[in-house]
Amino acid sequence: MSKLESIETLVIGSGPGGYVAALRSAQLGMKTAIVERSQLGGVCTHVGCIPSKALIAEAHRYDLLRPFNHTNAAASFKNAQDFKQGIVNKQSGGVHYLLKNAGVSILEGEARFVDEYTAIIHQSGQKQTISFKNAILATGSRPIELQAFPVGGRILSSTEALSLTEIPNSLVVIGGGYIGIELGQMYAKFGTKVTILEGGQQVLPGFEAELVGPVVRQMKADGIQTITGATAEKVMQNTDSITLHYSQHQEQHQVTAEYVLVTVGRKPNTDGKLGLERIGLPLTSRGMIATDKQCRTAIPHIFAIGDITAGPALAHKASYEAKVAAEAIAGLTTEVDYKAMPLVVFSNPELASVGLSEEEAQAQGIPFVIGKASFGINGRALALRETEGYIKIVANQATGIVMGAQIVGVEASTLVSELALAIEMGATVEDLALTIHPHPTLGEVIMEAAENAVRKTANRN
Ligand code: FAD
Repeated sequence: MSKLESIETLVIGSGPGGYVAALRSAQLGMKTAIVERSQLGGVCTHVGCIPSKALIAEAHRYDLLRPFNHTNAAASFKNAQDFKQGIVNKQSGGVHYLLKNAGVSILEGEARFVDEYTAIIHQSGQKQTISFKNAILATGSRPIELQAFPVGGRILSSTEALSLTEIPNSLVVIGGGYIGIELGQMYAKFGTKVTILEGGQQVLPGFEAELVGPVVRQMKADGIQTITGATAEKVMQNTDSITLHYSQHQEQHQVTAEYVLVTVGRKPNTDGKLGLERIGLPLTSRGMIATDKQCRTAIPHIFAIGDITAGPALAHKASYEAKVAAEAIAGLTTEVDYKAMPLVVFSNPELASVGLSEEEAQAQGIPFVIGKASFGINGRALALRETEGYIKIVANQATGIVMGAQIVGVEASTLVSELALAIEMGATVEDLALTIHPHPTLGEVIMEAAENAVRKTANRN
């Protein structure tokens, strides 16, 4: 067993939480090491954000080009998978380069706590002891597995669904959250007959129904059958298909497909051999680690970030918390503030939301105005043949300060950043309306929504 000299910050896990934490810690002059048991870049790079968005973009391009040429779906899908893997490799290589360049020690293996200041890194029978002054836990999450639907054979989690080598003829998705919708729609665009089962009354439950409307319409146009208020109960595996039994309105139904994809949420990697019980770190009932505004756990020199902490399981949340944790260790004045945290769904059309929704502003009793503008007559949207959707801004009625925004439409994922910046800076709808937006661009829709809100704020006409 070898022993590494004491380091100031040990980061466990190299996803968008861990690697950003390690980089920031090294930038702040601290001797930093990062441990990864699998591949640098974590879920986001290998089986999450990056591969899914690569395949979604390819599916969208395939779908757009279909009327103009007779592209072969199977060949396009194979190209999409190759393209995806190329991007994943580039990103993972990029994480390695950044860490090396910043002087971070990269340790391969699984970290297990021995005590509050010591961990052992296990790798292929070898052990390395490491002592540290501070630790940042960024061990991420994995798909929840339902007992009735164990992953294997014709039952897929998102990980397997991202790596199929052929387009399935048919696919049933259990769970209408963002991962189920994104992957379901991606396969539908390549020609798979997709059925989505959702327990609630609408898919994408976190978003307001009106906003989800255009996505549901497009899903229908893509040939997707959506069944809401449905509970998946059991599966029967056949030789070349799988039958899913579900109930809806007290009636029993079944649907047969080539694969079943289970996307019912994710589970934090806080169990297993990590040994949190050895250091007495308590977990919440959902297996999460409670943290304060500096991402500090109940043990003051141990921090936790990303999917193992409360809040949405998103890569940019993990990276944001990473910087706060590293800066807190360095003694800087810092704390998290989630008021401008964007949520994005890479559906077609895309959905994005930041800050308060209309309903939340109402619930908080804040007098507000709504400014709305549609993509329908925007020159750029017309040129892109992507005119579905709108932008809605929620602003304080008295001051005009932007409190929230929701977007459904093309490039919602990119446009939402301008609105997040507005919230972060305390900008008003007048600031947005008076900002010169280039023509013809999608950003002009933000300007128009802001102009619409300005007319409704106090003392304006
Ligand atoms: P992770 O990325 O999960 O990384 C944790 C790392 O820790 C892993 O590499 C793991 O091997 C390692 N590890 C765990 N335990 C140990 C140990 N004991 N020792 C050493 N290493 C360990 N988010 C978005 O913001 N946008 C998206 O578009 C998006 N799309 C997604 C699509 C899919 C299909 C999925 C599954 C997720 C998606 N997400 C998306 C969510 C995003 O991937 C996660 O929120 C993000 O990866 C969490 O980052 P993290 O750093 O907390 O952990």
